[in-house]
Amino acid sequence: MQTAQRVSRIKPSPSTAAAQRVRELKATGARILDLTVGEPDFDTPDHVKLAAIDAIVRGETKYTPVNGTPQLREAIAAKLRQRHGLEIPLESITVGGGAKQVIYLALAATVDTGTEVIVPAPYWVSYPDMVLANDGTPVVVECAAENGFKLTPGQLRSAITPATRWLILNTPSNPAGVAYTAAELRALADVLLDHPQVAVLTDEIYDEIFYGPEPMPTLLAVEPRLADRVLLTNGVSKTYAMTGWRIGYGAGPADLVAAIDKLQSQSSSCPSSVSQAAAVAALTGDQTFVRESVAAYRGRRDRVVKLVNDTPGLRCQAPHGGFYVFVDCRDLLGATTPAGAVLATDEDFLAYLLETQQVAAIHGTAYGTPGYFRISFATSADVLEEACDRIRRACEALA
Ligand code: PLP
Repeated sequence: MQTAQRVSRIKPSPSTAAAQRVRELKATGARILDLTVGEPDFDTPDHVKLAAIDAIVRGETKYTPVNGTPQLREAIAAKLRQRHGLEIPLESITVGGGAKQVIYLALAATVDTGTEVIVPAPYWVSYPDMVLANDGTPVVVECAAENGFKLTPGQLRSAITPATRWLILNTPSNPAGVAYTAAELRALADVLLDHPQVAVLTDEIYDEIFYGPEPMPTLLAVEPRLADRVLLTNGVSKTYAMTGWRIGYGAGPADLVAAIDKLQSQSSSCPSSVSQAAAVAALTGDQTFVRESVAAYRGRRDRVVKLVNDTPGLRCQAPHGGFYVFVDCRDLLGATTPAGAVLATDEDFLAYLLETQQVAAIHGTAYGTPGYFRISFATSADVLEEACDRIRRACEALA
């Protein structure tokens, strides 16, 4: 079948591809220590599951409003009010099949051929491809490790052109775990105030998996004058271990949200009714799960950061949020393996880890930042210990 050009412009998500490769290897009987995972290793909390079962029993099994049930939008508005003091009207909130779908529809609703979207690197793998799929031009800005992988106001100013329509700001970020401070957001907001045509998509999917003082700062609260052009996206996938339930949301200007809803009405009609009921329970119910899982992530983060920094040739910064460590392996590029192969790229290094140590992780080039790789610590402490030990052995064996 002849497909549209937009399909050939994009590639399958590298994280999905890596997960598939791990599944294939496991199917052959190999024991792979999998550090590629982009989802919590915890189960969805029981009270959330029970809320979904109750919804089914009550017959909440039909289409819902396109933009989500009023109960769920109330719960989202309440979260944004309690956490950040934001007052978001319900018509400015939309619920979709994961934050991923909301981000995709936001771009589909606003991007035309030639529209530029600023994407700071390292970036979540989907942003550039989503822009390309919607005929736009991703403008990748490399954020230096020395600046903590953060976009600086100077970089933002130089990247903006008359064609710029969006800046995508992911905080805390995947893969680098970077969260912007209120002062850093303030400085970016000052640049944005000079450029009224630039909207900002703040992807805050890891906002509650945060290791700094709560709450994680958000652009909309730092600069309310940007309210008519900030789309805040988030969801329940990561915070509540609900990746398979597919519920995410966007809060932003009512006209943009209406355009997203129009597209949603002609594509999926609405998100799953049962999952929406579960998401209400997640957002409004007991939050012990969040506290306990974040405490567990914090412990693993500290351990992995130490083990990586104790490994010859590797370095990393402690992430501020999320469950990934972004590791600098540039010192090892050019080294020779015991089999006599030269590791020229981060991809070579990851292939070497997989073949010799059965450790799977994702190469930094996939995130627009060669010379690095991403470790997910959304896996058990035992697997992490063993994987880090094997990575150290692999590094020590290089000449
Ligand atoms: N944004 C970032 C930065 C992510 O890492 C992910 C998932 O990996 C998503 C969005 C998508 O989340 P959801 O499951 O809500 O679609």
